[in-house]
Amino acid sequence: MPQLPAEARAARSWGAEGVGLLRTELLFLERPDLPGEDEQLALYQSVAAELPGAPITVRTLDVGGDKHLPAFPLPKEDNPFLGWRGIRIGLSEPETILLPQLRALLRAGAGAPIKIMLPMVSAADEVRQARALLRRAQAELAAAGLPHAAQIELGIMVEVPAAALNAEALAREADFFSVGTNDLTQYTLACDRGNSRVAGLYQPLDPAVLRLIAMACEAAHRHGRHVAVCGELGGNPRATALLIGLGVDELSCAPAAIPHVRAAIRAADSAAAQALAAQALLAAGPDEVQKLLDQLEQA
Ligand code: PEP
Ligand code: MG
Repeated sequence: MPQLPAEARAARSWGAEGVGLLRTELLFLERPDLPGEDEQLALYQSVAAELPGAPITVRTLDVGGDKHLPAFPLPKEDNPFLGWRGIRIGLSEPETILLPQLRALLRAGAGAPIKIMLPMVSAADEVRQARALLRRAQAELAAAGLPHAAQIELGIMVEVPAAALNAEALAREADFFSVGTNDLTQYTLACDRGNSRVAGLYQPLDPAVLRLIAMACEAAHRHGRHVAVCGELGGNPRATALLIGLGVDELSCAPAAIPHVRAAIRAADSAAAQALAAQALLAAGPDEVQKLLDQLEQA
């Protein structure tokens, strides 16, 4: 699986301070079997080796919806995006899916600042269950005498509206939040992100999406948790000041976008960013938010 270390190398060459979203699906796709714990460990170590000492946020397997695995055929569902997806699969298949991955991440975490991120979380109980599995994985590794991280951060993606609406309870359970604006937009606006017929409705800058981001940030900060954005919006330098104003602490983007986003962060003034966010939250729709961003660009 050479793509992931190569992407980490590219990220380093563009000046990344870490990896904000390592999608592990690639490791599981296009093969007839599931990758074993040792194979996963080698991959996570090889990614971490590209950015020595830098935090690497690894998302546990996020299949279901439109992503399928040959080695783990999913049942046909009427509404796959509202069905067995992300952490829901991991929690109901701990032995085959989640535990081997948690063990591999804990082992990689012995030598690198790995963070674990859960996809498609909607309820605090899912985080509690995942944390119980993480403790079990730690106990198993200790019993086997295998080096592993004694402490590892366990965070969640905020990508369904319920995660933002339940942010207070989730912030008690999760160590950090990362907003997946791609899915958050799709689920908030009830608009399939891959369906060209409704592409006009798919607007990450819709105030409905922005309000959920603000809500997640407020709850996270009350509990001393950081909030990142790892969806496409995080890589859009036009939106950088707005995201900062909404309370976002960290941005994750494709390697080539790093210099643009970094320049936008440097240019942002925190009081102006907050004023912009306050106006955007009251906007009538995404076009009005776009206009606010245009005005900022021209100022
Ligand atoms: C997101 O939903 O914003 C996200 C980063 O996850 P993915 O695009 O992999 O669904
Ligand atoms: Mg997503």
